Amino acid sequence: MKLRRSNLLKLRRQSFDVLVVGGGINGAVSAAALAGKGARVALIDRADFAGVTSMNTSNLAWGGIKYMETGDFALVRKLCVSRNQLMQSYPSTVQEIRFFTTLTKGFRYRPGYLLLGAWVYWLIGSCFTRTPRFLPRGRIRREEPIVNTDDATGGFEYSDAYLHDNDARFVFNFVRTALDRGCVAANYVESRGARREGAWWVTRARDVIDGGEDFDIRARVLINAAGPYVDEHNALTGETTAHHHTLSKGIHLIVKRLVTERRVLAFFADDGRLFFVIPMGNRTCIGTTDTPVSDPNVAVTDADIAFVLDNINKRLKLSRPLAVADIIATRCGVRPLAVKSQPGKARDFLHLSRKHAVEMRREDAHISIFGGKLTDCLNVGNEVSDLVRSLGIALPYPAYRWYGEPPDAVRDEFFHQARLLDLDSYTAPESSEPLSTRLWRRYAAEALGLLENIREDPRQAEVLIKGTEYLRCEVAQAARREMITKLEDFLRRRSKIALVERPEDIRRSPGLAEACEILFGDAAADKLAEYFDGVPAHPPASPSF
Ligand SMILES: Cc1cc2nc3c(=O)[nH]c(=O)nc-3n(C[C@H](O)[C@H](O)[C@H](O)COP(=O)(O)OP(=O)(O)OC[C@H]3O[C@@H](n4cnc5c(N)ncnc54)[C@H](O)[C@@H]3O)c2cc1C
Repeated sequence: MKLRRSNLLKLRRQSFDVLVVGGGINGAVSAAALAGKGARVALIDRADFAGVTSMNTSNLAWGGIKYMETGDFALVRKLCVSRNQLMQSYPSTVQEIRFFTTLTKGFRYRPGYLLLGAWVYWLIGSCFTRTPRFLPRGRIRREEPIVNTDDATGGFEYSDAYLHDNDARFVFNFVRTALDRGCVAANYVESRGARREGAWWVTRARDVIDGGEDFDIRARVLINAAGPYVDEHNALTGETTAHHHTLSKGIHLIVKRLVTERRVLAFFADDGRLFFVIPMGNRTCIGTTDTPVSDPNVAVTDADIAFVLDNINKRLKLSRPLAVADIIATRCGVRPLAVKSQPGKARDFLHLSRKHAVEMRREDAHISIFGGKLTDCLNVGNEVSDLVRSLGIALPYPAYRWYGEPPDAVRDEFFHQARLLDLDSYTAPESSEPLSTRLWRRYAAEALGLLENIREDPRQAEVLIKGTEYLRCEVAQAARREMITKLEDFLRRRSKIALVERPEDIRRSPGLAEACEILFGDAAADKLAEYFDGVPAHPPASPSF
């Protein structure tokens, strides 16, 4: 909380080159790129960082194989290049994964034709991943007996990438990178609109946690990265743009682990769209849906759940069908899709392109970011910093590489120290990977500090919240460095505890109270109550299938 309080003061007192409104993926990469290149940057979000769309994705960094059907090869090429760059830059976080795709009778294409498409996709992606392969029905049955092959005509397997940790953690790491390079960021600070005063943007801001009076943030350039709320924020500041957002709702359900192999099972759902069974630690994430909506404030409905459960039960052979009681957690968000027409007027909704658009009004020094994907985030960061530079803001380090994992020497030193400490012997039995691998992926160079904590006091390596993998020293580090303002920030976004454990199990965990004390000190009891008051009722615990 100290970090947030001190940043709130700085937001009031300092003036900035750039203010970024919105700390989802687009705002986070903009802030990280600009701060790394030497601009004085502020970043605010009225919720938590990644607290809206960017915590509800399918966790995939993918080249958009499905856009080949609409012939948008330029987009596919661009996304494949972005995916490859992410995989190269974040080898421990963004990893190749196989998509084991099954087709059923009556589907609009035959397996051989789609296999050919998968080869073209592989070539467009610079042959960067493993090659596709054909899956005759018998092989599907042998290699993945959980797949229902009764109606199957065959299939194919190809590669894309996925985020090993969750999307929100990935986004937060860009915010943390920006903070490390001098960005002044604060979550739960709302922009209530901005006005021009000479060469300055003056943004009216409000601390939504502690209330108090509105205050002004002064910046030369204003970046609207409010995701599905970009149009709303432009209306508040009186900005007009050629692009607007059309919104598409998507949900995922998280259930017990269904597949032991680390692979994505892909199907075509009843609506003809790709539908995935994605690994998530020791759980499985199923989805998604694609429903046009006009309001970005969405929630999972019974109809959404029925659609996902119906589709999955048809396509998998389970000892009994998945039911509502099997759902551990849900994810729900809207895709902000950039369109050049008026919002809601797009005709072919499912085939709308998922390209991002960065629109600048030079005379106002105002930039709006429309659409986009996690996959394309490095391009967004670079495009935005080029535009800011073109507005005359000095970027003293224009070629600075603002993204990516630390150099190999730092990595080797971490793993060397981890071996000397015998760190992996502390790995929790429920963990899906060695402790050293997980700590490096989540914290990179900061993980060296955790080793020091454990050397000083081995109790720091104890799992604090039973059933999860999170250690006492990680919670202490989160309290110091991760701007955890509400318990949900930690349980749902910095970690993925709330995605893989049921609320009642989290509530019963003996370490939760201690975790709250580490995170919030005297406010621990209030933060705990606030979290459990806000968590939706979930289905009964401990189903089995
Ligand atoms: C179901 C689903 C699955 C997806 N799967 C993938 C995938 O697998 N791979 C992929 O690459 N992409 C995927 N996407 C797309 C991707 O998630 C989004 O395009 C991306 O997250 C949008 O990021 P953003 O930063 O624009 O918006 P957001 O993440 O919504 O961030 C905008 C932020 O602005 C803040 N804000 C709004 N108004 C204000 C204000 N007035 N003041 C301060 N802050 C404000 C909000 O609180 C929010 O945090 C998926 C999307 C959905 C919905």
